[in-house]
Amino acid sequence: MAEKKAKMALKTVTSLVPECPECNSDLKVVRFAGAGEKGLFWHCGKCSYKQRTGQ
Ligand SMILES: [Zn+2]
Repeated sequence: MAEKKAKMALKTVTSLVPECPECNSDLKVVRFAGAGEKGLFWHCGKCSYKQRTGQ
């Protein structure tokens, strides 16, 4: 059941794709694992805007 929950959570995250406030292009979810920046972030490939997803 845990696996199903995780899939649903991922679907929820990817279904509401916000737009970049800097250049209005679609943001992509990326996972950072570096020091100080861990977790999922919305990332803009055009202007490198980055924001936490809250997950
Ligand atoms: Zn952007």
